[in-house]
Amino acid sequence: MSTSSGLVFDIRHFSVHDGPGLRVTVFLKGCPLSCAWCHNPESQSFETETYMRIHRLDDKEFEFVEHIGNRMSVNEVIQEVEKDISIFDESKGGVTFSGGEPLSQPEFLRDLLKACKAKEIHTAVDTSGFASQLVMESIIPLTDLFLFDIKHISEDEHKKYTGVSNSSIFKNLDLIAKSNKKVIIRIPLIQNITDTGENLKLLREVIRKYPSIERVDILPFHNIAKIKYERFGKNYTLGNAEKYDDQKAEQIKNYFNEVVSIVSIGG
Ligand code: SF4
Repeated sequence: MSTSSGLVFDIRHFSVHDGPGLRVTVFLKGCPLSCAWCHNPESQSFETETYMRIHRLDDKEFEFVEHIGNRMSVNEVIQEVEKDISIFDESKGGVTFSGGEPLSQPEFLRDLLKACKAKEIHTAVDTSGFASQLVMESIIPLTDLFLFDIKHISEDEHKKYTGVSNSSIFKNLDLIAKSNKKVIIRIPLIQNITDTGENLKLLREVIRKYPSIERVDILPFHNIAKIKYERFGKNYTLGNAEKYDDQKAEQIKNYFNEVVSIVSIGG
């Protein structure tokens, strides 16, 4: 039985956008990236965080403290996941480990994946791909499906908007794709950042190289996270950007459909 533990900031039941069937999504806290468009700013820090929230009712204000992040053992997470085990069987679902960046807690993630494997639960890992090759090689055999984000092909632009180089990300994508594990690519569509003609063309070339990529999800920008940034007192550089244009997203979907048969908008 595993004794490792890790920092989790949410566990959501009945997820329908994080892999096949009905799923439990376990969000691991902490991410080495700081994407300008991140929808989960509370996921980025590797520490537990505390915020003061104010609720107003009529003319009264009620203050309460909100804690983000919970240290959990593998067994505690698996007990939560197992509540839905009968639904996994019926819906062909399973568990998805997301973040933050789940590969940033490699021992915890490995132990969680092993525990799921022992119980024959389908596993997906939702990742930015930012990890060492050693970590990625240890995760691949334990994972049934990768949800793999690719953002920008230009290293300079990638650094500018996410804070890190993309070189390990594309090397890790190559490792996964060549291992013949199933991969769903996710591309955030951010106006004038990731949706330039050149970037989309080069991302499409990457996808075309790998037959194991069975689907692409394009994720058009929306700014519903604005309220979270305000609540947590964090700076949101894209806070005033508009929701992504539906028609343009549809055109980009068709563009990727030329190289991969399943492309969906929004995952
Ligand atoms: S990789 Fe994901 S969790 Fe990390 S900063 Fe970017 S969008 Fe947020």
